[in-house]
Amino acid sequence: MANSASHLEFPDEVQSFSVEHTNVRGRLVRLSKAYEKILTNHNYPAQVASLIGELTAMSISLADSLKYDGQFILQTQSDGPINMMVANVTSSGTIRSYARYDAEKFNNTIKQNSVPYLLGNGHIAFTVDQGADTERYQGITALEGSNLAECAQNYFRQSEQIETAIMLTADPVKKRAAALMIQKMPISNTNSHQPDALSPEEDDESWRDAEILMSSTRTEELLDTNLKANELLFRLYHEFGVRLHNKKPLTFQCQCSREKLAKILASVPPKEIEYMKTDEGLITSNCEFCGTDYKFNDEILNSIRNNEAQ
Ligand SMILES: [Zn+2]
Repeated sequence: MANSASHLEFPDEVQSFSVEHTNVRGRLVRLSKAYEKILTNHNYPAQVASLIGELTAMSISLADSLKYDGQFILQTQSDGPINMMVANVTSSGTIRSYARYDAEKFNNTIKQNSVPYLLGNGHIAFTVDQGADTERYQGITALEGSNLAECAQNYFRQSEQIETAIMLTADPVKKRAAALMIQKMPISNTNSHQPDALSPEEDDESWRDAEILMSSTRTEELLDTNLKANELLFRLYHEFGVRLHNKKPLTFQCQCSREKLAKILASVPPKEIEYMKTDEGLITSNCEFCGTDYKFNDEILNSIRNNEAQ
């Protein structure tokens, strides 16, 4: 076995499920290798590493519940020690994320882990981008809640009017992150598996039960590599029964490329290019997601410009 006992891995994936005889639909996201890649190239303080793991896992659970072809982007922007976090999830299952933070503030011992303390005042934005000729969907809400899950739950309650419960956890040392999300689907969306429709009272009651059962899960279980996704879900909802739907593999993959950067540089006026050059006469760019450094010298810049002009 390649893995040591202290560093076991999950397959990086999202498992979609529904709770039988209810209108509750859910997603269980578990990450290990992909989370490790997100942490590589960034020397994040522990709290940042943990929060970016939670944000990434949450973005996958939300993205998987949407029908889209393109990118789902979850982004926070705020005035606290962590001033920005962003996670991208493509419909093909590639993920990437990063955080911007004030390193000096983390040098002074930060002891609290709450969202008001680490992120401060700001907002969280949910964006679906399906390409150039399509309308961009965006939802924005103030960061209100003691943790990221609460902030997202508030958004769904207020803006989308969908009851949503989310549990998030990340362990940067073991390199594991997880999200468990359940949503109460509108009765009209109930799929044909349900033999008899629930009354509104039964619908509410089954949602409350599902929520209570979910809150009985411990974060250690979500991160337990000995507990498979299906086992965890059966353990949680065996009273009702649980139906497993799609299981989607996830991989860390950045979308940056030399070609994309070259296209952007070709559109910048030569005068401005001069201002952008380093003392060595190079244009340099670092991708904040994956840490790749790109360098362009005059010769390459000229050939880019000539190629674009043709
Ligand atoms: Zn990149």
